This record gives sequence, C-alpha cells and structure tokens, in this order.
Amino acid sequence: MTTPLSRAELDAALALANAATPGPWRGDRLDGTVKYEVLGADDVQVLRVDHKNGEFGFLSDNSTGDERFVLASRHLVPALVVEVLRWRVTAAHRQIVLCERGLCSCRMGAESEICAEASSILAEEVPNA
Ligand SMILES: [Zn+2]
Repeated sequence: MTTPLSRAELDAALALANAATPGPWRGDRLDGTVKYEVLGADDVQVLRVDHKNGEFGFLSDNSTGDERFVLASRHLVPALVVEVLRWRVTAAHRQIVLCERGLCSCRMGAESEICAEASSILAEEVPNA
C-alpha cells in the first residue's frame, strides 16, 4: 500500500493544476502525420509538435506551468485516484457501521441507496498507484 498524499503534496498538486493553461484540453493530430498539438480553453495552444516547421514543445506564454503540470500528472493522477478510492472505502466502512447500528434509513424496510452503494464499494478492490 502506498503512503497517502500529505496535505502539502495535495496543495502542490492543486497549485500545479491551477498554474497550467485552463482546460479542458484536447489533442489534435492535425493532418494525420507526425504533427500534433494540444489546445486549451479558448483554443490556446498548449503544446505543438511540428518538427518540419521547427515548432515543438510547450509554446504558450504559460509554457513553464503547462510543462510542470504535464510532467507531474504521470505520478499525481494514479496517486490521486488511489487516494479517492481509499476515502470511498473509509466512507463506506463508516456507513456500514451506521447501518449496523440502525442509524440509517434501512431500518424503514428496504436497504437504503447509500448503504447499498457502501456495500458495493467494499466489494471492490483498491489498487496501488
Ligand atoms: Zn443502512
């Protein structure tokens, strides 16, 4: 099991995202050759690969922020997904404890939606990053 992200690491991840060009981002293979570009919100060019015309790399005015965000994403995205999955399991455990103590709407008859979801989450496997 990996170590949960610290508050400082989460703050740093959010700062990286906030410093990058606003999204959503989309890729375009242009004419299907080796040319490629990534555009941000309002079609701001984030990244371009066009060696034939000497254009490549993070080219916007925000190139440093975009590059840092892309590089960090490789390790941050899996770490954040695992963190979310862990918290879902924690919340599900707590819901089941409440359910077992009769502190949910299940006592009214049919299993409540949130308790059914909690049971479903607890049946899932949480991967490591
Ligand atoms: Zn319940």
